[in-house]
Amino acid sequence: MLRRTNAIVLKTLPFGEADLIVTHFTYDFGLINTFAKSPRKIKSRFGSSLEPLTCSKISFWGKEDAQLPRLTQSDIILSFQELRESWNCFLKVSEIAELTANFLPEREANKKVFTLLLNTLKTAKKDCNLLLDTILYKIRFLNFIGYAPRLDGCGRCGNAGLSFYIAHGSVICEKCATGMNRPIKLSPGSIKLYESLSKWDDPAIGRIKPSGELLSELSSMINDHIIYTLSRPLRSHAFHKLKPARCCDSKPG
Ligand SMILES: [Zn+2]
Repeated sequence: MLRRTNAIVLKTLPFGEADLIVTHFTYDFGLINTFAKSPRKIKSRFGSSLEPLTCSKISFWGKEDAQLPRLTQSDIILSFQELRESWNCFLKVSEIAELTANFLPEREANKKVFTLLLNTLKTAKKDCNLLLDTILYKIRFLNFIGYAPRLDGCGRCGNAGLSFYIAHGSVICEKCATGMNRPIKLSPGSIKLYESLSKWDDPAIGRIKPSGELLSELSSMINDHIIYTLSRPLRSHAFHKLKPARCCDSKPG
């Protein structure tokens, strides 16, 4: 059975001398691994369409339950070549690609996440310096798949709190946290920023200018939450040390 859909390349794995296993995040079928015959040969019909982050219209062939359907065609819609040309930018977007590949179940369409990823790549193509975009992707992604941390009130009683307990995925107020240890302490500013990023639309978010310090604090907490939830660190975290964004030094406004 031949199927067609739009897809973003999340990762590739060499197979034998010239073949590749490609992990695509597709619009209609979610995460799919496909087998690409000889894309590493110079005159491959796939051209550069299997480079990570490329968005293409693909066709693949195989029985509905085939573990590794065969990729038959891949025509580039958006190459996102710019994102691969800057090392820093590539690290940043690789992190969100890895997050997407690790969290989502195979073969379950999630059109909201597909659109989110595509729009984030388009934004990064215009300006890759914004740490805010990476955090925003993570927050929206976690929201869409039901793993968002809760910061708007204690996970037990709903009262306000500033201590995030990673095993609970939530802020826990002082009263309910008796006997619990090692919380991540958060500032009221980073909780407010999280709530804004979770609930506001793009034009409203475009008007906020959080400090680098606030972004780093929130980013660090979200990364810890992701690592705990996945039960393993993301590979890209190992060589991607977070720096406050140059662009966001002004005070919240
Ligand atoms: Zn409580």
